[in-house]
Amino acid sequence: MNYGMRPGWIEVVSGVMFSGKSEELIRRVRRAIIARHRAQVFKSHLDSRYTGLYSVSSHDGTEIEASPVDSAAEIFRLVHPEAELVAIDEAQFLDPDIVPVCTTLAGRGVRVVLAGTDTDFRGEPFGSMGALMAVAEMVTKLQAICVACGDPACRNQRLLNGKPARYDSPTIMVGGRESYEARCRHCHKVPRRDEDQGRLL
Ligand code: ADP
Ligand code: ZN
Repeated sequence: MNYGMRPGWIEVVSGVMFSGKSEELIRRVRRAIIARHRAQVFKSHLDSRYTGLYSVSSHDGTEIEASPVDSAAEIFRLVHPEAELVAIDEAQFLDPDIVPVCTTLAGRGVRVVLAGTDTDFRGEPFGSMGALMAVAEMVTKLQAICVACGDPACRNQRLLNGKPARYDSPTIMVGGRESYEARCRHCHKVPRRDEDQGRLL
């Protein structure tokens, strides 16, 4: 697939959890491999959802091998000089250098495919996803299904002990006591401290 362009561009697959980003990333990588393009897959180390640290897995169980990385610089160091496609999952967890790393790779002729959650549990931009969507040639924004009402879902609902997590809880929680649901804008709840006292912001 060359989209009628010279090789080297950035594709972003964004959306909430359960929207099918990993499925779509795996599909694009598999098709590139069928076309005999040399592909490398990376994934932020911070994603602890799965025990298979060395693979990208989707919620429906499909899997491809991936190298876990801690930083954008590590991706840059590990990219093989002959790689034609570089895929990066969980891009929201990576540091801001991910933007220059991707633009440099694309400038060298690499097809860069990034997948990531574009909003955090508060519904605000997550990490460098907004900047990556801005510099990309192609952006695919996927939606899941709201578990509360069945409409298309564009938000990650964080639950702590079954209740909506408050606005001031940390963006990335270490230890994973929390759980997440896909919800639409209207069913998404992020209580603020002041709401606990009955006052709306
Ligand atoms: P992501 O990488 O965006 O978290 P995945 O590709 O891992 O998404 O998983 C997508 C799959 O999750 C869907 O194909 C579907 O089988 C399953 N799924 C579970 N809950 C939901 C939901 N609320 N909305 C949509 N798909 C869901
Ligand atoms: Zn809803």
